[in-house]
Amino acid sequence: MRAIRRFTVRPVLPAALAALGELAGNLRWSWHPETQDVFAEVDPGLWESTGRDPVKLLGAVGRERFEELAVDEGFLERLRASRADLEHYLTADRWYQRRVVADGGSGGPGPRAIAYFSPEFGITAVLPQYSGGLGILAGDHLKAASDLGVPIVGVGLLYKHGYFKQSLSREGWQQETYPVLDPDELPISLLREADGTPASISIQMPDGPDLVARVWVASVGRVPLLMLDTDVEGNPEHYVDVTDRLYGGTSEHRLRQELLLGVGGVRALRVHSRITGAPEPEVFHTNEGHAGFLGIERIRELTVAESGPRLDFDTALEVGRASTVFTTHTPVPAGIDRFPRTLVEQYLNDEGGATPGVPTARILALGAEDYVGGDTGVFNMAVMGFRLAQRANGVSKLHGEVSRGMFQGLWPAFDEAEVPIGSITNGVHAPSWVAREVFGLATTQGADGDADDPESFWDAVDRVPGTDVWSVKRTLRQRLVVDARERLCKSWEKRGAAKAELKWIDDALDPDVLTIGFARRAASYKRLTLMMRDPERLKALLLHPERPVQLIIAGKAHPADDGGKKLIQDIVRLSDDPAVRHRIVFLPNYDIAMAKPLYPGCDVWLNNPLRPYEACGTSGMKAALNGGLNLSVLDGWWDEWYDGDNGWAIPTADGVEDIDKRDDLEAAALYDLIENEVTPRFYDLDHDGVPTRWVEMLRHTLKSLGPKVLATRMVRDYVRQLYAPAAINARALNSDYAGARDLAAWKTRVKAAWPEVRVEHVESSGVGDAVEVGATLVVRAFVCLGTLDPADVEVQLVHGRARSDDTLTDTAAVALGLTESYDGGRHRFDGEIPLSRSGPFGYTVRVVPSNGLLTSYAELGVVATA
Ligand SMILES: *Cc1c(COP(=O)(O)O)cnc(C)c1O
Repeated sequence: MRAIRRFTVRPVLPAALAALGELAGNLRWSWHPETQDVFAEVDPGLWESTGRDPVKLLGAVGRERFEELAVDEGFLERLRASRADLEHYLTADRWYQRRVVADGGSGGPGPRAIAYFSPEFGITAVLPQYSGGLGILAGDHLKAASDLGVPIVGVGLLYKHGYFKQSLSREGWQQETYPVLDPDELPISLLREADGTPASISIQMPDGPDLVARVWVASVGRVPLLMLDTDVEGNPEHYVDVTDRLYGGTSEHRLRQELLLGVGGVRALRVHSRITGAPEPEVFHTNEGHAGFLGIERIRELTVAESGPRLDFDTALEVGRASTVFTTHTPVPAGIDRFPRTLVEQYLNDEGGATPGVPTARILALGAEDYVGGDTGVFNMAVMGFRLAQRANGVSKLHGEVSRGMFQGLWPAFDEAEVPIGSITNGVHAPSWVAREVFGLATTQGADGDADDPESFWDAVDRVPGTDVWSVKRTLRQRLVVDARERLCKSWEKRGAAKAELKWIDDALDPDVLTIGFARRAASYKRLTLMMRDPERLKALLLHPERPVQLIIAGKAHPADDGGKKLIQDIVRLSDDPAVRHRIVFLPNYDIAMAKPLYPGCDVWLNNPLRPYEACGTSGMKAALNGGLNLSVLDGWWDEWYDGDNGWAIPTADGVEDIDKRDDLEAAALYDLIENEVTPRFYDLDHDGVPTRWVEMLRHTLKSLGPKVLATRMVRDYVRQLYAPAAINARALNSDYAGARDLAAWKTRVKAAWPEVRVEHVESSGVGDAVEVGATLVVRAFVCLGTLDPADVEVQLVHGRARSDDTLTDTAAVALGLTESYDGGRHRFDGEIPLSRSGPFGYTVRVVPSNGLLTSYAELGVVATA
């Protein structure tokens, strides 16, 4: 029988236990083991069987048990302490209040609030609103911001089915299921107006009534996360489906989701501030291009909204740009959102579209690939992201570099190195990912988890005895083995095996064998199957009589990616082989719940992407913080922080065009490393049974990588390098919008006058035919600025190493000073530089626009070179 209607009866807690509801209502429990202890005490069996889900736990506990707890003084005391601890966490001053607001950070008080937009957020297994790295990163960003007291508010969507659950068919083919998530059973609450009615936002659609969405709020410690949901009574069916699932459906479906996220997200923020009194964000950060339409909605607010200041488009664009940060996340072209231009024209039509009154042509121009090699038929969300944000970054040094090359077309007049895309390397939220036992090792040595600075943790590393380190690693490996066996068993039952056939699983994996983990999306550049390039060699490593290894593998393929599913099937088939199945396993449904015991339980974390397609990668950071050693291609973060002793670098065959050849070479290098470096070190035990050289490397990993890979380091970098400077610029522009008007007018004037700007003549002295280190180069440049003023530009001496074709590399720019002005817009600029380096040297002179409110000379895209 099927119910005609379903709803969830929320539990009524006895008054004495009200604090349990409050603890369950804030996701801080998900990274706070002491709070989890309190839930476990409510009913240990239910705590496990509900998948450690406080909301489900409280819904399942019977009245009698509650009555017992309500008079259990010991429990009540622990509950009160936990509640008080949460209160303190939520209200006391933290790093941001102490360091940024108090002493002004980099030049002025930090922003009052920052809005962080992302299509997915991976916060806890019980709120499955993520597909992989991007979402986990967004979750870690919010959690670290909360720990630091950074006033962030998250904006995302609530998907009725989340991503998908992965299982396997008998043949090892990926199966997808889409369980329905009931919001009443999730740790979120509906944003309501003062009179109790649900708050909502709406968006004008070209083909029907307005799209309506309600707003859920998840409390991520101190950070509210707003999640828009179109499953609202009154919405036609195809609108209800807008928030059906993550990354599914047609282009049009995706566009609707992104309009909801960007345009609807800004509207939700306004409603949230109106209702709760929360400060309006001063900075908007878009995590990948998907939320880019937020910039269009902000232009609408500033140009045509009833309550807005009614600025012209260009002024509004400057206001929006100054306060927007755009982070690009992938160098893989297929990872970038591109819509048919006609579709965007329809949905953002200035009459019947989502942002009425904003000129369609201007919107289309923002996403146009109007550069060499671009496709004029598409609207590119990343391109719009760069044009709507004054500050942009990649997610590792290498990825910053790759992005500057990839998007150079937007600044064609400048060298790649000058493309205004910086980088902030990702990090991970230690309290979420580090096993309690590992934290314990440090805290017993006096490390302080509440300090602003985690220094005491790295100081503790050398003080922990090797035997303690090794016994904790064994415990964690054992826990992973037990978890993996359970998962294997369930998977085989789903695949149609009878219980009696599964005896072998009791002995699958071994808590004393070197354990290598490999888990990631089955995107082709991640090369899930590189390790089985030579199956015989792999088998020999797995079955080595003295020094065996075992492999634990996991990963989902996008439902539409049959190529990825084939890779999974290849791995599964190999791991089905009775000869090796106790040493290599594929665990279906990689998610946060699986990841938590996986990282701490592995000795080695393997990553072998096709360089340089891994923008950053974060799973290896989580492994490192748990004392795992990385064995990885020098890509993403590993390229930056591998120091020769904190793990292993798999040599790459960059430049080998033949992909098969390249895979062969890199796989062989991987096998060699495992055989000759990794296993001998792991199995070289001292008389206490401790592999001392391994533990030494583990300590070095923690000390060298620990401080860098933290999400708190990442969020501090964002605050100092991007959020605070953006807020300062934004304030300069929009206190009364005069600054923005001036800047927009200045840009228009400079662009119009630029054709007249040229370097007419350069003279130099101080260097003769035989130049030696220590000489000084003196330069006089005669330039014509047309109608521009010398203050509108900077005349630069650009110097560097000269190649045989006279192109300059490793360039630096020195500003020349104005010494004389003549009739007809002509001026002389002088300057000098010492020649401090031997070798081929070259220089040139150029004129670039200059204004204190620009973040880069390249911002206008114009330059005049000698
Ligand atoms: C950390 C994490 C990821 C991202 O890891 P990458 O190294 O970026 O591939 C994906 N899924 C889960 C569940 C994670 O915990």
